[in-house]
Order: sequence, then C-alpha cells, then structure tokens
Amino acid sequence: MSRRRQLYEGKAKILYEGPEPGTIIQYFKDDATAFNAQKKGTINGKGVINNRISEHVFLRLAHIGIPTHFIRRLNMREQLVRQVEIIPLEVVVRNVAAGSISKRLGIEEGEPLPHTLIEYYLKSDELQDPMVAEEHIACFGWATNEEMQDISAMAIRVNDFMCGMFAAIDIRLIDFKLEFGRIWDGDYSRVILADEISPDNCRLWDMTSGEKLDKDRFRRDLGGEEEAYQEVARRLGILNDADSGPGEVFDLTAHRSKLRTGPKPKK
Ligand code: UDP
Repeated sequence: MSRRRQLYEGKAKILYEGPEPGTIIQYFKDDATAFNAQKKGTINGKGVINNRISEHVFLRLAHIGIPTHFIRRLNMREQLVRQVEIIPLEVVVRNVAAGSISKRLGIEEGEPLPHTLIEYYLKSDELQDPMVAEEHIACFGWATNEEMQDISAMAIRVNDFMCGMFAAIDIRLIDFKLEFGRIWDGDYSRVILADEISPDNCRLWDMTSGEKLDKDRFRRDLGGEEEAYQEVARRLGILNDADSGPGEVFDLTAHRSKLRTGPKPKK
C-alpha cells in the first residue's frame, strides 16, 4: 500500500489524495450502515461491486452529457474522481413510494407517485439529515438558485435515463439519492454529479417478482444482500463469468431461495 494521505473516511468509502492536484481516490468499503449508522455490518464484496456499478452508471451518464466527477476506475475497489467542494445536500428522487416517504405520509410502499418527486435533505450526521425546503437552501446559502436549477434539471435527467436503463434489465427504479459538488475555475464555479450511484443509494425492485435488489435487504434484515448486489451487476452486464464462478451462469432462481429465506447462518 502506498503512503497516500487519507482525506476522509465515510460510512461506505474512504477518500485519499489523488495523484494530481484536483483529484481524489474513492475507495469502496464493504461496510454497510443504516438508520444513521445505528445499524452497522458488512456486505461481502459490496465495495468491489459498487465500484463497478457506479463506474458503469457514471460513464453512461457522461455519455448523455451529465457532468460528473468520475475520471476512471483504478482497480477493484478504487476510482479516480475530480475533487469537488461538496454541496451539503442529499438529493432524493422518487418515482414510487417507499421508505421514509411512506412512513412520513402514510403512503403504501409500492404506490406509484402521481409524478416524480425531488426532495432535499441537509447532509448532517448530528442532525440526522433533516429534510429541508428550497427556501431553507436559499436562506442559509447551501446552494444558489442557479445551482438549484442545475441540480434539479440534472436529477430529472438522471432519473429518466436510469429508469430506462434499469427497465431494460427488468428492474424498477423506485428512488435514489444523488450528491453534487462544485468545481471552481477562477471565480466561476459549476455543479457536477459526485459521490456514487449503486444499490447502496437506490431502491431497485425486480420488475416481475418485486424482490428487493438493494440495501433494504440489509436495512430490513432480509438477507441475501450479496446475491442481490451481484444480480444487479450481472444484469447490467458488468460481472463476467470469471467473477461469478468458473463457467457458471448466474441463476436467479437458485438465489431466490436465499433472497427469500432471510439471513444466512453465520459461518
Ligand atoms: N438514501 C441514501 N442515503 C441516505 C438516505 C437515503 O442513499 O442517507 C437513499 C435510499 O437508499 C433510498 C432513497 O435515498 O434509495 C430514499 O431514502 P428514504 O428517504 O426513503 O430513507 P430511508 O428509508 O432509506 O431511511
């Protein structure tokens, strides 16, 4: 391991100083947390899969003109990204009711929303990421009005693209969370997509069976989280045969029993 400087350790990633100024290395851990880190665990191989899934999604978003921090994947667990000044907001896009909106507003999980919703949460562990209105964002200067226009327009484009991308592999995109950052060029700054997009921060349901293929398997103790993350990667075409075993074709039905029966016994 080289002696590079660690800049920050988060719940699922570690950030290191990159090889050139203005770059950062994102290292993807297997650690998983939920409920504001009250629940902690690991999902074996999650870091490797999320690194690949996020690379895939960010590259495809770049192809449709979304500016992102992604530069290139370096190895199994690391990617080189542009350093940004992070905007302290979590941007949640919802197509179908689930999770906190179902609890807060009493809407049954799985109920399609009349139209896509964008919600903003303040990134603050101490305050447990409270939901904020655009009024608060402007009032406290977390982002300018122009930045919010860019953020909401990008969030909608990302949603449209990802709904199609996942529908093509029989997955329903229920909701997801994005983060954005600023990059400066002299006095001028622009907003780009940052962080990661993976089953850690998306809700992904199998289109036919409704099976959850995301972090809710961990949050809700459903078990089979490793298989679910692998299944998303496999359907995206980014797990080759070598990754899923010698000559083995991934068979969801074989894993279904694991996905349904809950946590595997501890080894
Ligand atoms: N989400 C996230 N990080 C957070 C909170 C939410 O990545 O700190 C994602 C979550 O995976 C889901 C979406 O944002 O895809 C909406 O989450 P929700 O508000 O329903 O909260 P949760 O039920 O996860 O607490």
